[in-house]
Amino acid sequence: MRKLIVSLFVLAIVSGCSQGMGNHSHDQIKNSGGYCKDCSVGYVDGKEVKCSSCYEMKKDKTGWCEGCKAGMVNGKKTSCKGCVDSAKSGEKCKSCKG
Ligand SMILES: [Zn+2]
Ligand SMILES: [Zn+2]
Ligand SMILES: [Zn+2]
Repeated sequence: MRKLIVSLFVLAIVSGCSQGMGNHSHDQIKNSGGYCKDCSVGYVDGKEVKCSSCYEMKKDKTGWCEGCKAGMVNGKKTSCKGCVDSAKSGEKCKSCKG
């Protein structure tokens, strides 16, 4: 039983943004944009992004997030991964004929 309590305690520290690495402010990255790996939260244009892939995608205005199945091409949201790939390679999207 004691082992369980200890492991729960460790889990709380690892998953939470507390004890040791929680004493930091996000004010700077909130304003200028950035990603906090400790908290797994990023900011783009003052908006919170809770996924590193989405953060990179929104920062670069083009990219794909496998976890959210969401993409962006030149700042426009898309649900077609092929369009994101084609935006990077310069070729036409094979997945859709839009
Ligand atoms: Zn943080
Ligand atoms: Zn995402
Ligand atoms: Zn497409």
